[in-house]
Amino acid sequence: MEQVFAPWRMQWVERPDKNPEVEECVFCELPAKDEDRAHNVVARGEHSFVLLNNYPYNPGHVMIIPYEHTGDYRDLDDEVLLDHSRLKQRTFDALDEAMGPDGYNAGLNLGGSAAGGSIDDHLHTHVVPRWSGDTNFMPVVSDTKVIVEAVEDTYERLHDAFASQAGTTVVGDDDAVRID
Ligand SMILES: [Zn+2]
Repeated sequence: MEQVFAPWRMQWVERPDKNPEVEECVFCELPAKDEDRAHNVVARGEHSFVLLNNYPYNPGHVMIIPYEHTGDYRDLDDEVLLDHSRLKQRTFDALDEAMGPDGYNAGLNLGGSAAGGSIDDHLHTHVVPRWSGDTNFMPVVSDTKVIVEAVEDTYERLHDAFASQAGTTVVGDDDAVRID
C-alpha cells in the first residue's frame, strides 16, 4: 500500500527547553531574538526568513516565513510575495546543494486547524525534500537527541549552502545567512 504523504499534518514543536506557558507567536518571536543558530533560523531575506523544523518530516524540512504576522496569504503585498517566492527559489538551490534530494513537496497550510496546521495565524510555506523510496524520517529516528543532532547537522549544511550563493552576506557562524 502506498504511504500517504501528509507534511501538513506536521506540527511545529518547540524545543523542550522553552516555556510552554508562553502564548506568543513563535514565528514573530524567533526571528526577533537575534540568536539565529540556537533557534534554527538559517537564512534571512528582507521580508521573509528560513526556519528549520525541529521535528522534520524528512531531513532538510524547512519553512519559509514572512516576518509579517498574518494567516491570510492575500494580505501579502507584491514586495513581500516576491521576496517570499525568491527565498523559496534560493531554498531549493541550497537544499539541492546541501542534501541532493530527488524532489520536493512544498506548500502552505491555510485555514488553520481545518487544514491540519498547528500554527494558523502566521502563514508559512513548508518545503520537504524527498528521496526516491523515502519513508517518514520520524518513525525511523524517534530518539530526541538524534533528531536534535540531525537538525544541527542540517543547519550546518544549509548555512554553508546559502553562504555559497551569490548575493548573500555571512555575518557570523551563529547568524543566519543574509540575503542581500
Ligand atoms: Zn506571528
